[in-house]
Amino acid sequence: MSESALPLKGQVAVVTGASRGIGRSIAMKLASEGADLVLSARGVEGVEAVAAAVREECPDCRVLPLGCDVSDWDSVSALVDRTLEEFDRLDFLVNNAGITRDNLVLRMKQEEWDAVIATNLTGVFNTCRLVARQMLRQRSGRIINITSVVGLLGNAGQVNYAASKGGIISLSYSLAREMASRGVLVNAVAPGFIETDMTAAMSDEAQEAMADSIPLSRIGKPEEISSVVAFLCSPGASYITGEVIRVDGGLATGC
Ligand code: NAP
Repeated sequence: MSESALPLKGQVAVVTGASRGIGRSIAMKLASEGADLVLSARGVEGVEAVAAAVREECPDCRVLPLGCDVSDWDSVSALVDRTLEEFDRLDFLVNNAGITRDNLVLRMKQEEWDAVIATNLTGVFNTCRLVARQMLRQRSGRIINITSVVGLLGNAGQVNYAASKGGIISLSYSLAREMASRGVLVNAVAPGFIETDMTAAMSDEAQEAMADSIPLSRIGKPEEISSVVAFLCSPGASYITGEVIRVDGGLATGC
C-alpha cells in the first residue's frame, strides 16, 4: 500500500497488553495500516521487543513502548500523559490487557477474584476514564474493548473472568451512549478460543475437545482478532458504536 493510501496514517493508537498474543497482533496490524503506536504491558522488555518488530516491518511508524499496569490508576495516568506529550493526540484506545485465575467458585480465593477484576474490568475503567477527556476534546476517537465469549456464555471455573468480561460489555454499552454525541465510538470484540499463551496452558485433549465444540472446528488465530480491531478503527466503521462483535468461529451463535 502506498503511504498516502494507509487508512490510519497520522492517527495514534494506545494498545494495552501489547507484549504478546492478541495485543502483539493488534500492534502489528494497526502499524501496517499506518497508525503510530503506544504499546504497553507490565513487562517493558516485552513491549520493547514488539516495538522493534514494528519498526522493522513499518519503518515510518512512530512507536513508543511503555511499562504500565492497567489496574493501577497512577500507572495509567502516566501512560496517557506520556502519550499526549509525545503525540499530542490519541485516536484509538485498544483495551486488550487481561488475565485469568481459574478456579471453581468454592475454591476460588479472594486474591483470584480481586486480581482478575482489577486487571480486566477496573483496568478498562481506568484507561477509558483517562483518555475520555482527550477524545471528547478532539471530538473524535475510537475505543475498542477486548471482552470474551465467556462474558456472554459464562464458563464453569471462571466466575471471576466471566464477571469481568460481562462487565466490559455493559461498560462499553454505557460509554458508547455517553460519548456518541461528541463523535467518540465505543465497541467491544468478543474472541472465542484463540491460540495464545493464555490458552496454551490447556492440555492437547482439552484443546481438541474445545475445537470440536466450535462450529468452524478450529481454534482461532490472533490475526483473526486484530483484523476486526483494525476494521473498527477504520473509516468504514464510522456508524458502529455500542456493538459487541463475536469472533469465535460460531461458538456463541445465538447470543
Ligand atoms: P496473553 O497472551 O496472556 O497476553 C496478555 C497481555 O496482557 C500481555 O501483554 C500481558 O503482559 C498483559 N497484561 C496482563 N496483565 C496486565 C496488567 N495488569 N496491566 C497491563 N498489561 C497486562 O493473552 P491473550 O490471549 O493475547 O489475550 C488478550 C486479551 O484477549 C485478554 O483480554 C483476554 O482476556 C482476551 N481473550 C483471549 C482469548 C484467548 O483465547 N486467548 C479469548 C477471549 C478473550 P504483562 O504480563 O507483561 O503485563
